Amino acid sequence: MRVPVMELVDNPGATRALSRAVPVGEFGDDGWGAAEGAFRDDIDLDLDLDAVVEGILVRGTVGADLQLPCGRCLVPQDVRVDSDVAELFVDPAKREDDDEDDPGYELIDDRTAIDLSVMVRDALLIDLPVRVLCREDCQGLCEECGADRNLGDCGHRPDEAPDPRWAKLADLDLPSE
Ligand SMILES: [Zn+2]
Ligand SMILES: [Zn+2]
Repeated sequence: MRVPVMELVDNPGATRALSRAVPVGEFGDDGWGAAEGAFRDDIDLDLDLDAVVEGILVRGTVGADLQLPCGRCLVPQDVRVDSDVAELFVDPAKREDDDEDDPGYELIDDRTAIDLSVMVRDALLIDLPVRVLCREDCQGLCEECGADRNLGDCGHRPDEAPDPRWAKLADLDLPSE
């Protein structure tokens, strides 16, 4: 997602707000990992673009409404992610020769624009919840028949006595390595 910044470049102290809902498709073709296909709506940008001597400082929040499956019963859950961002987009004309190891974010298009795609993608993916649960005591799916155990009793008791064939194995005194 390219943002023109002509009026900010070479104007330290100048600033511009960028508050917009932007369709997911505008953030490039790279995959979204665990969030692939999970967006329910546009991505909300609420950013300040500050011109500094070294380039453009982008600060604010990036937010999205997602639908991610419960880790136990797989029923889709609404999840809101809001990520704080603060990244410097370096003006290549101001870059010192000796710090080219990690170019990071840079002004592009002959110092007239920045591309927020990678920053937004990384911010949201880092803040995705590691585990989504529909509720703390979600019973999950039956390992035997796949039924959602929150919806009723399928009759299986996965927590009780294991299959007798395996019980015999458990009785064997196997050498441990
Ligand atoms: Zn669940
Ligand atoms: Zn079952």
